[in-house]
Amino acid sequence: MDLKAPRGTKDILPKEATKRQYLERAFEDLCHRYGYEEIRVPTFEYTELFVRGVGDSSDVVRKEMYTFQDKSDRSLTLRPEGTAGVVRAFIEHGMASWPAPLKLWYKLNMFRYEKMQKGRYREFWQLGCEVFGASASTADAEVIGLLDAYFAGLGLEGIRLEINSIGCPACRETYKAALRAYYEPELPHMCEDCQVRFTRNPLRMLDCKEDSCSRLAEGAPVQLDYLCDDCKEHFTLVRQALDKQGIHYLVNPRIVRGLDYYTRTVFEFVSENVGTQGSICGGGRYDGLVHELGGPDVPAVGFAMGVERLMLEMEAQGITLVEKPGPDLYIASFSATSADALALAASLIRQGLSAETDLMGRSVRAQMKAADRMGAGFILVLGEEEVTSGQGTIRKMADGSEETILLDAIGTYLKENKEGKP
Ligand code: ATP
Ligand code: MG
Repeated sequence: MDLKAPRGTKDILPKEATKRQYLERAFEDLCHRYGYEEIRVPTFEYTELFVRGVGDSSDVVRKEMYTFQDKSDRSLTLRPEGTAGVVRAFIEHGMASWPAPLKLWYKLNMFRYEKMQKGRYREFWQLGCEVFGASASTADAEVIGLLDAYFAGLGLEGIRLEINSIGCPACRETYKAALRAYYEPELPHMCEDCQVRFTRNPLRMLDCKEDSCSRLAEGAPVQLDYLCDDCKEHFTLVRQALDKQGIHYLVNPRIVRGLDYYTRTVFEFVSENVGTQGSICGGGRYDGLVHELGGPDVPAVGFAMGVERLMLEMEAQGITLVEKPGPDLYIASFSATSADALALAASLIRQGLSAETDLMGRSVRAQMKAADRMGAGFILVLGEEEVTSGQGTIRKMADGSEETILLDAIGTYLKENKEGKP
């Protein structure tokens, strides 16, 4: 039998997992310093949630969802994105009555049936944030600032921030009318999808990847020119709040975002390194979604960032992530003392250190080699004599210097002498 991981999925082997842990921990740490708390939502939801929450004219809903019937014939869908599930949880648990604003972050795998390309998988991971309850422009500027700080902290440079405002439902109607007027004469030359989009949601025509349609989109009217006074003011304030943080951006009136629930601010962080689509991260304000899904009127803003694309960007910029560090101590042993070595390692680990011993019954010589290969900080050979006398010789791998100390004192010794101690 030739069993392989399904098309579009991949195994994350230890080396890559270490890199991901680094990226994830940096994100978690930053989110916590910004006052965001983690939320985890189910891997699948009732299909209806995504149809209503993401929008039935979006590509995600129309083409990309993994939808199936369960044994009791309910239609379920593997989550293609995080926001809909988080909003569902927000409503279900009455979080509108929690202290506002509610600031959440998540780290979740997503599933989309898409054509495989560079940076495009069928199962991929997103890091995201959602802020509920704040309609102020500073909330938009905070989540954008968090991302900017994240990239800077990773040492990434030159990722372009593009922002736009797509208005509110009121000014959008005027804009849709302008779009239809623009597209109507060209409609016969457009793709089948766009024919449907024309009636359902002409905004989506701007996002079409077909050559002829995307050329037309370049000349289409832009929402920015149709903003109502409130939306205009909000956008100005977002920009001022970004300026104050020293964040550079480009106003790109062509950003529309693929999802239906966005209002006002939309943004993307883009780079040439992450595949044809170029987007590492996308987000925006979605003031209408909580109400749309049956909750109260609660404004919200957030983003989702693709981890695989982030990794492509790191690689392209030549930023090598720290490898798994070696143990503070490797304890080499003989068959008579292997359990003593294990017990000593266990006690060091309980003291907050890292330690490894041989589980393979290898010769001391082979164990020394293994310790060297894994980059151990110190090594100790534990023979019967050491066990009996309660003391041994600890050698620092970096310079070969040795010291004889009590086994009971090794924990303290390592804490005082190990590499990179605070
Ligand atoms: P794209 O233009 O690449 O299709 P999108 O607009 O569908 O992106 P969002 O739904 O906004 O993307 O998702 C946010 C982020 O998730 C993207 O910026 C990207 O980094 C990542 N992402 C989206 N789809 C995939 C995928 N199939 N594989 C890997 N990462 C993805
Ligand atoms: Mg997409």
